[in-house]
Amino acid sequence: MCMKIELPCSCGKAKAQFNNLNNILPPSVIENVYCPACSAEVTVDPETMLVDNGWIIEYNMEQIRFLLAKTGIAPETVTPEFVFDERYSTWQGVTPTDMEESLREREEIIALAKVDKKKYFETIKSWSINRMQAFMEAGWRKAQPRSA
Ligand SMILES: [Zn+2]
Repeated sequence: MCMKIELPCSCGKAKAQFNNLNNILPPSVIENVYCPACSAEVTVDPETMLVDNGWIIEYNMEQIRFLLAKTGIAPETVTPEFVFDERYSTWQGVTPTDMEESLREREEIIALAKVDKKKYFETIKSWSINRMQAFMEAGWRKAQPRSA
């Protein structure tokens, strides 16, 4: 089971939802989250930070290396990108607000089902495809095709 982790960003305007794979890492490994409004003031430290489409995640890399070492992962392979891409601590969904928006949008489409069944099926099918396409074009890290 994955625990739901929701953290406010540094300025408090936005909230980000995280998912830490199998809860190997506790939520406390995320030291700071910066939304596009508050990330501009931050000097990015690639040793501890991951930048994704205007958002920044600051990890406690020392704690993460220590905890992942217990599962047999060599500390030198553990970078913020590794932590994010291997899902040890990453957005829940594709973006920090994906799950919330997705639920809301889905509810709107489901409401359509009561009015127009055929339109509903067409809409729900294209919805998820269009969504992923939009995320990819917007530049979200998790929506990019991964190079092997
Ligand atoms: Zn903010």
